[in-house]
Amino acid sequence: MTLKGFILSFAVVMTGGLELIGQPDNIKYYDKETFGPKLDTLRLLNGNAVTPQGDPLELAVNIALQHYPELKGRDIRIKYKKNVRHPITASWAAGNVFRSRKKHKYVLLIASNAFIKHISLNDQVGVFGHEMAHFKYYSEHPSIHMLWWAAKYLTSKKFHYEFEREADRTAIDHGLGHQLLGIAFYLKRSEIEDYMKKSGAF
Ligand SMILES: [Zn+2]
Repeated sequence: MTLKGFILSFAVVMTGGLELIGQPDNIKYYDKETFGPKLDTLRLLNGNAVTPQGDPLELAVNIALQHYPELKGRDIRIKYKKNVRHPITASWAAGNVFRSRKKHKYVLLIASNAFIKHISLNDQVGVFGHEMAHFKYYSEHPSIHMLWWAAKYLTSKKFHYEFEREADRTAIDHGLGHQLLGIAFYLKRSEIEDYMKKSGAF
């Protein structure tokens, strides 16, 4: 461990970790000026799970991951690809069939020309908060279920739509309602606000 790493670990232990970035549930707006300098701390809190380090989206992914303590220990790789069907996909790596769920690796597959690089950090966190909800779902279901899920997701529009809306709700449950307000594709703004009020997030 480097000296910097040691000092950071010490700081994390002394402050209980999360206080360094504030209570994730209460943060209304993630701005680059405040949270950019906290990247090293976030990496440490997340066990350097997000790669490659130095990617322009790494900060937003690390912040979103902090909202999902149940994903601790899972590797999340940011990958770019040309000519993909969706701008961002929370992909379930096929190799996971051979891994225990705790050792799953996940890939955020991003279209090379996707809008995500050009929006605010706060909106990026909202988008990745939704994607983390998919990783949470994958992490909670066995591979055999995922095969059934993939078949349903690809063939039933209704199932697809409801699955995506549920991911938005999961992100709100994880304290990311404020981030979703400006960017959610599946729940309407009024639905997000209603859900936040019901769950006491407003
Ligand atoms: Zn989705």
